[in-house]
Amino acid sequence: MMANLDESLQTELAALAERGRLRTTRPFETPPGPRAQIGGRSLINFGSNNYLGLAEHPAVRRAASEAAERWGTGSTGSRLLSGNLPPHAALEAALASFLGEEAALLFSSGYLAAVGTIPALVGRGDLILSDALNHASLIDGCRLSRAEVRVYRHADAAHAAARLADRQAFRRCLLVTDGVFSMDGDAAPLAELADLAQQCDAWLMVDDAHGLGVLGRAGRGSVEAAEVEGRVAVRMGTLSKALGSEGGFVAGSRTLVQFLINRARSFIFSTAPSPASVAAAQAALRVLRTEPERRQRVLLGAAKLRAGLVHLGYQSTGGESAIIPVLVGADAEAVRLSRQLEEQGVWAPAIRPPSVPVGSARLRLAVTADHSAKDIETALRSFAEARG
Ligand SMILES: *Cc1c(COP(=O)(O)O)cnc(C)c1O
Repeated sequence: MMANLDESLQTELAALAERGRLRTTRPFETPPGPRAQIGGRSLINFGSNNYLGLAEHPAVRRAASEAAERWGTGSTGSRLLSGNLPPHAALEAALASFLGEEAALLFSSGYLAAVGTIPALVGRGDLILSDALNHASLIDGCRLSRAEVRVYRHADAAHAAARLADRQAFRRCLLVTDGVFSMDGDAAPLAELADLAQQCDAWLMVDDAHGLGVLGRAGRGSVEAAEVEGRVAVRMGTLSKALGSEGGFVAGSRTLVQFLINRARSFIFSTAPSPASVAAAQAALRVLRTEPERRQRVLLGAAKLRAGLVHLGYQSTGGESAIIPVLVGADAEAVRLSRQLEEQGVWAPAIRPPSVPVGSARLRLAVTADHSAKDIETALRSFAEARG
């Protein structure tokens, strides 16, 4: 006899708890701004990806509520049925124009953009080269595609090249990478990968969820920062981080977009993002262009926090980005440090496997443009105390 559902699942949950891997959701009692109330206490919030602070920006909020008033709360269907509204086309045109690409296509999330796009482009008989630290959405897209997936060492273009030696044995080849790695905050070697893609007749796909709006002189992300614009066949991003909204997108050629409309299952079989989300992202894109100082603030704050943590003896990786990992190692130890910081007024969530490789549990801090210099100093004091 099979165990009853709850009993069976409880056994598995208990095993997770024993290994320090149990995940629980914590309710925020205020919007997740630079400070947020959690468990009745106001904490400095380093848990949100709202890098430019646009989720609370008045113009962005107004655009969302006006769109909900005008177009309703739901898109009511796939883009191919009833869900194709003027805000969708307007944002796609704005994203394409901002990124200097021919066209863009919205998905209901970045996750859905990845799991729809990769299997649309490659399948059986094709080859995917994937960075060892790529985001789960890319990993899942690779798995769904049924192509042969080869993982290369993190940010190691030479290893990717070695794994491409028998490229001719395959039909299509996709080289896929995060632009800025979500749990490490470092950048992919995009110039080398673009060269490799060119040499090996592969398509380069960059998921720039954490670079868009933050990196590059104009905020066009890691592709701009690495000076490889025009050399990335598939640019993917999310509306949920620097743009403060919800949804994902792919930008590239008109043909790519037309193809995805026909072949990306997560585009075809999922309801279009809501008019409010789309309008919010469009307003955010406007603010991103008109208030470049937000970009400078977030990078300055992040650099200060990173330097301060390293000075205190914490181990951090990463480069120029808003993401600061504090490497701990053991899962339970990461949870303990996170709790201790919470008691001292800092929200710095612990990240454990499978989000990161086994043995590399960490805290992940994300700095936003709205964190003040004082917030950063206060946080560093708490980290100093936690160090004891
Ligand atoms: C957050 C993230 C995604 C998923 O985007 P959502 O819009 O939140 O679904 C995809 N890729 C990377 C690298 C991310 O960090």
